[in-house]
Amino acid sequence: MKNPIFAQLGLTFVTQNFTLIFLLFFALTLAIRLWLKLRHIGFVTAHRETVPAEFTERVTLETHRKAADYTVDRSKAAVIGTFVDAGLLLALTLGGGLATVHGFWAPRVDGLPYGLAMIFSVMLISGLVDLPLSLYSQFVVEARHGFNRMTVGLFFADLAKQTALGALIGAPVILAVLWLMGAMGEHWWLYVWLFWSAFNLLLMFIYPTWIAPLFNKFSPLEDGEMKARVEALLARCGFRTSGLFVMDGSKRSSHGNAYFTGFGNNKRIVFFDTLLTRLDPPEVEAVLAHELGHFRKKHVLKRLVMMFAGSLAFLWLLGQLIDAPWFYAGLGVDTGNTALALILFFLVMPVFTFPVTPLMSWLSRRHEFEADAYAAEHAAADDLIHALVKLYRDNASTLTPDPLHSLFYDSHPPAAQRIAHLQLQPGKA
Ligand SMILES: [Zn+2]
Repeated sequence: MKNPIFAQLGLTFVTQNFTLIFLLFFALTLAIRLWLKLRHIGFVTAHRETVPAEFTERVTLETHRKAADYTVDRSKAAVIGTFVDAGLLLALTLGGGLATVHGFWAPRVDGLPYGLAMIFSVMLISGLVDLPLSLYSQFVVEARHGFNRMTVGLFFADLAKQTALGALIGAPVILAVLWLMGAMGEHWWLYVWLFWSAFNLLLMFIYPTWIAPLFNKFSPLEDGEMKARVEALLARCGFRTSGLFVMDGSKRSSHGNAYFTGFGNNKRIVFFDTLLTRLDPPEVEAVLAHELGHFRKKHVLKRLVMMFAGSLAFLWLLGQLIDAPWFYAGLGVDTGNTALALILFFLVMPVFTFPVTPLMSWLSRRHEFEADAYAAEHAAADDLIHALVKLYRDNASTLTPDPLHSLFYDSHPPAAQRIAHLQLQPGKA
């Protein structure tokens, strides 16, 4: 028979060790994030006065300095954000924040409404904590460098719409997940995973036609050279879409972009109006060819499969932790239930998965090189190079990132590497 005192001692020991492991990962993640940002700021500042040799013909010193200042300002905001996130995580867990929220709701509601109240409360708290920095980024950093096109009114209208939409879609989803967790026995994580995957696929399907139009206006791409080129490219690549659209991205920001949404026959190609005004038709064609490359090389599908496999693994892991008292106690909550398990798990998970960041970035950069190679094959490499230089210039992206920061975080290869790679492509015109 188990001796209850020894069992209690054993639990305390495991709990304390788990707290220590969590704190170790927490400190390590925080230190690495700060160190990389500070390195980045230092490197960009040190190279502020010299345009890299391979860009001297295309980029002026003034443009280069502007990119450096913008990068430094954004990185400083990111440093503040790192501290805010870390402080919030500690306050909610070991600081007793979650225990307090639980103490507030537990006597008032129970069952599924309790779970919903807990999850919405934590979302509200983190939303409010993040708000000042979002405002600062948009209306100070972006505005200082001439990128902000948003009014404070539009910012809060967006926020209200996002919150309402989040509550409208989020509440039934959270209720369904909590119900499955309680009702499906020990293999609940499998049912939650099936539900979650189906929900995500549905969301991807309805996003372009139902959700995106709530925030932006989409108008069909007008006839002309641009449209003729785009259609010729699509035919060359054997690509079908349900429409070519222009989005009023300039309503919020002057950054330019192009993207795909939806899948199957519901795919739409969306150009930001800011992109079309800045690039010549051949350059737009090359940018689009790059995006088509992501589809043709199955990057979109691979990402989706990785996402589903990842969420299955995480839900399985949560299935193992949910009944372990040390999981709750080790993170500052002295009671356990499905809602608390979900909240704690998703709060602390980034601390443990942070070391995987460079691997994901590396994979993403590899995909970018592959999409560039595809673009060089089906459009002109030189047009893509011109487009990239213009986008780097207009978005004030730095040409001289800290190499280690770039290796760790960058989803796209540094400009110099990307252009050198494009110049090596056999399809180069
Ligand atoms: Zn890409």
